[in-house]
Amino acid sequence: MSTPVPDRPCPQDPGLLEAVERRMVSGGAALRFDDELERRYEADTQKRRLRFLTSVGIGGACVYNVFLLSDWLALHDMFAYVALGRVGLITPMIVLLLLLSQRLSARWALEAVAATGTVLASLMPLLVMIHSESPYRLHYQLGMLLLMVYCTVIQQLPVRYASLALGCMLTIQLVTTWIAGFMDVVTWQANAMLYFSTAVLLLMASYFLERGSRLSYLFALRGRLLQEQLTEMARTDPLTRLFNRRYQGEVIASTWEQALRTPTRVAVILLDIDHFKTYNDSYGHMQGDTCLKLLSHTIHHAAQEAGALTFRFGGEEMLILMVGAQANQARDLAEIIRAAVHELNVPHPVLGHQARVSISLGLAEGVAPFISAGALIGSADTALYAAKGAGRNCLRCA
Ligand code: GH3
Ligand code: MG
Ligand code: MG
Repeated sequence: MSTPVPDRPCPQDPGLLEAVERRMVSGGAALRFDDELERRYEADTQKRRLRFLTSVGIGGACVYNVFLLSDWLALHDMFAYVALGRVGLITPMIVLLLLLSQRLSARWALEAVAATGTVLASLMPLLVMIHSESPYRLHYQLGMLLLMVYCTVIQQLPVRYASLALGCMLTIQLVTTWIAGFMDVVTWQANAMLYFSTAVLLLMASYFLERGSRLSYLFALRGRLLQEQLTEMARTDPLTRLFNRRYQGEVIASTWEQALRTPTRVAVILLDIDHFKTYNDSYGHMQGDTCLKLLSHTIHHAAQEAGALTFRFGGEEMLILMVGAQANQARDLAEIIRAAVHELNVPHPVLGHQARVSISLGLAEGVAPFISAGALIGSADTALYAAKGAGRNCLRCA
């Protein structure tokens, strides 16, 4: 059986919107959400992050190989080794890491792979540089600054991964230039100072980037949650939590529109609580509301199990719409609902000592679009009157 439109939207976690707004007010200074929100953040942004890291990975690998020119100019005596390292070692490694990341579902693994690729890419040229006698090595080792910028500002690694990657790069840079021994101590210190302060500034950039991206996620999520909440409110009757009459109109219009392309069997059950005015008059409207809510809940669940939608049609009347059902399925459902209400055993003592609250039902079936929605509902209404006339607590079919 096919349902004409999406069923009731997934009920929202009521605390989620609150958690999002609380976090927005705090400004997102701490770069971690509460566990639940953090899981959602990672899941919601995982695909986009993977696409982003893949495209900057490909772009980064291209630029990395353009630096063959710099190797040729500034590390001429070691060009063969460094070129082999770039083209034969690091580039295939980047390709492998990019392929591996397509299979990763854990966020930490994705960020760790991205950080590892960049650190390894920074290691190779400086290792080769140790063995060079080129007079341009002081200039050459500055290339490491670009890789630091790449991992923080281009890859936009989260701060904790960026810190680790920058720590590794700083160590590689300081150790290799020290071992290479082409600088006097003062130049080495000044150079180290330059790298250290660059790393600190880049970490600040990394912090602001991550904070901004987390905040914009919160804004987008809040918008989505509010939109869902509004849609839910616009479709739902506040007392019974059933779909309301407005949504009934939308569903019926869309069902008949789809039926213009593929004619579809449609069944309508119209039901009404028996002697409900007396119930209200005897026990008060508050008790009447409680009874109405209880019946609505039971009816909604029975209908939902059969793939049908339940709407509050009017005061204590409900309409059940079954699309694509076989002839006897709607009749079975109507009988199940009648029995379920009877079994609730809600006393109605004003009608008699053993009396219970019951419902009467009218059922009409037809093939849309050959029968109009209005005609089908009209037939179900006539059948409902027949059920009332037949003594109530029963089903009549048009
Ligand atoms: P019948 O078996 O012929 O249907 O008798 P009835 O008393 O149910 O019929 P009637 O249509 O005269 O009365 C419907 C009553 O349903 C009137 C109203 O007091 C009550 N009702 C409608 N909506 C609500 C509601 O939201 N809450 C409560 N408590 N009562 C409602
Ligand atoms: Mg009524
Ligand atoms: Mg009634």
